[in-house]
Amino acid sequence: MSLWTRKNTVPVVVGDVTIGGGAPVVVQSMTNTDTADAVGTATQAAELARAGSELVRVTVNNEAAARALPEVVARLRDAGADVPIIGDFHYNGHLLLTRYPECAGALAKYRINPGNVGTKRRDANFSEIVRVAAEYGKPVRIGVNWGSLDQRLLTELMDANARRPEPRDAREVLLEAMVESAVRSAVLAEETGLGHDRIVLSAKVSSVPELIRVYRMLSERSDLPLHLGLTEAGMGTKGIVATTTALSPLLMEGIGDTVRVSLTPRPGGDRTEEVRVAQQVLQSLGIRSFEPQVTSCPGCGRTTSTLFQEMAADIADYIREKMPEWRTLYPGVEELDVAVMGCVVNGPGESRHADLGISLPGTAEDPKAPVYVDGQHVTTLKGEGLIEEFKRILDDYVARRYESRPELEPTGSASSRT
Ligand code: SF4
Repeated sequence: MSLWTRKNTVPVVVGDVTIGGGAPVVVQSMTNTDTADAVGTATQAAELARAGSELVRVTVNNEAAARALPEVVARLRDAGADVPIIGDFHYNGHLLLTRYPECAGALAKYRINPGNVGTKRRDANFSEIVRVAAEYGKPVRIGVNWGSLDQRLLTELMDANARRPEPRDAREVLLEAMVESAVRSAVLAEETGLGHDRIVLSAKVSSVPELIRVYRMLSERSDLPLHLGLTEAGMGTKGIVATTTALSPLLMEGIGDTVRVSLTPRPGGDRTEEVRVAQQVLQSLGIRSFEPQVTSCPGCGRTTSTLFQEMAADIADYIREKMPEWRTLYPGVEELDVAVMGCVVNGPGESRHADLGISLPGTAEDPKAPVYVDGQHVTTLKGEGLIEEFKRILDDYVARRYESRPELEPTGSASSRT
C-alpha cells in the first residue's frame, strides 16, 4: 500500500495497459535502435519488456521506419512479448501515419510533439495525426519538450509578458508556455475528435527544479494522466540522481501516471538500465514493488573483512537469479525485505525490521551471525558455509510465506494491465 495519495486522473488505455485513473504507475522506456532494422528493434524492445518495461516507444522518423514497424510488432508477438509499442513522431508524423496505414494500425499509441509538427501548417498537421488516432482508436501522448517548444506560442506569451507592468522572469514564461502548449493541444485534439480518455500529457525539461515546477503547474491545469520524465537526464550517476531527485517529489505529491527514465547509455551499454532505475524509484518510494529489496549498511572501520560486502552482493545476485521462478510460484515475493548488516551496532535492529535479516560480526566481535525472521532471533550462523546456509533459510522463508497465498495480487507488471 502506497503512502502517497495519487491525483485522480482520467484512465487512458494503451494496448492492454492502463495509464492513470488509479492504475499502478506504468514503467516505460524507449529503444535506441534504427527502427528500419526490424530485427534489432524487436530484439531490444523484447529485452526492455523482459526487464519490466510495460510500454516501449520506438522512433518512427522516416518511411523506412514506418514500413518496418509492422514487422517489429509481429516479431515481438512471435517471440511471446505482448508489450504495447508506441510510435514517436516529429515533423512528418502526419505524412507517415497517412501513407503507412499498417504502421498506424500496429502502434498502440502515438507520441506527438506539438512543437515539431511544422509552423505554417502546424495545427493542420497536428490535427491530421489526431484524426488518424481517432480513426484507428489509438490514444496519443502530447509530449511538449522545452528544446522544441512551439515558438509561435512562446513568442505570444513573451509579448504578453513584456506588456505587463512588472514582467515575469523569462524562464517562468517559458515554463508557462510549455504548460499552455500541452493544454491547448489537448483541447485541439478533442475538438478534432479524439476522446478525453485518449490523451496523455507530458512537459519535459532537463533542469530538476524546473521539471518539478512545470509538472505541478500542468497537474493543476489538467485531469489527463501525466507521463513523467526528466529529459536528457545524462549518463551514469548524474543521470540516475537527477532523475530520482526530479521524479520523487512529484510522485510523492501524487503527480505522474507513467514514468520514463532518459539515461544516456555508454556506447554498447545496457539500455535496460533505464527500466531498472524507474522501477527502483517507484519501489524506494513504496509506490510499487518489483523485486525483493536487500538492505545493507555501507560498512565502516568496524568491518575489516570483505565477508559482509561479499554476502550482500551474493544475496542480491541470488535473489535476482531466483526471481523469474519465484515471481511465478510465489505471488507477493517482490515485497520481501532482506537485511545483510555489517556489525552489532545497527545489525540486529535493522535485521529485526526486515522480513529476514542477518547481522555479521564486526571486528573484535564474537564470530557469530544472528539471523532474524519476522523480527525474531531464530538461529545463529558461523564458520564457512554461512552464506549458503542463509540462502537455504531464505528459500524456506519464501516458500513458506508466499506459496500458500495464491489470492494475493502481485504489485509488479501484471497488475497494471487492464
Ligand atoms: S552497521 Fe556496523 S559495520 Fe555497518 S556501517 Fe554501521 S557500524 Fe559500520
